[in-house]
Amino acid sequence: MLPLISRSLAGVALALCVTLPAHADSYISRLLNKPVPGGVAVVDLGPAAQAPKATWQGKPVLVVKDQDARWLAIVGIPLTIKPGTSQQVNSGGRSLPFVVASKKYPEQHITLKNKRQVNPNPDDLKRIEQELDVQVRAYRSFTPGTPSNLLLDKPVDGPLSSKFGVRRFFNGEERNPHAGLDFAVPAGTPIKSPAAGKVILIGNYFFNGNTVFVDHGQGFISMFCHMSKIDVKVGDAVPRGGVVGRVGSTGRATGPHMHWNVSLNDARVDPAIFINAFQP
Ligand SMILES: [Zn+2]
Repeated sequence: MLPLISRSLAGVALALCVTLPAHADSYISRLLNKPVPGGVAVVDLGPAAQAPKATWQGKPVLVVKDQDARWLAIVGIPLTIKPGTSQQVNSGGRSLPFVVASKKYPEQHITLKNKRQVNPNPDDLKRIEQELDVQVRAYRSFTPGTPSNLLLDKPVDGPLSSKFGVRRFFNGEERNPHAGLDFAVPAGTPIKSPAAGKVILIGNYFFNGNTVFVDHGQGFISMFCHMSKIDVKVGDAVPRGGVVGRVGSTGRATGPHMHWNVSLNDARVDPAIFINAFQP
């Protein structure tokens, strides 16, 4: 009897889809709309012949075309935002609201032998500040062009070892929360670009080690770090699946792993959302 029941349920679901407005049925909304700190808000901008521009908190946001010529703003929400607050996306003189829900992130305790990576010396701090500045500027770049794909490919095949957003304590001292997603994979594993893009920054940084930034378009940016080897240079166009480098343990890392950041409108968001692995 079960197959019959599920067939009739499928029929009901299909009928519902037909009667709902197109945007409510959008697969982009269904998969990406996770309006929590460190999440994504998908805001319907309505139909238009040309792509509308949209901003949030004064910064341009990614706009993509949905089915039936509707446009959607894909807004990155930083971890630092206060849950429960009502936010407005501005587009063409209109204010389009979304509300930030709450999400609890767990704690992680890590022991590092290299104490300088917990409490850097004054020279290190100077270096860290300069490197942060360069990286933030990369995150703020906003280039035209539609991303090749919003649902991203995993950059490596392997189990997740540390989730996004965990509050991290190094040798008992709290530091910045985890801004990306870690995959446990051996050193030397090729790292593949999860969407097409352009290499906008490479570097060897105090915390991130060997690092590559790939701009997928309109502020949608991937960063890979702790690499043993970088296989691209700034300005390179990378196809979807193109190798940007190899897994390593450079910078502040306890062993080889692949750390991946995803950023929208200069907000680091949970990469798990884009590979359909988000957990509320
Ligand atoms: Zn990490």
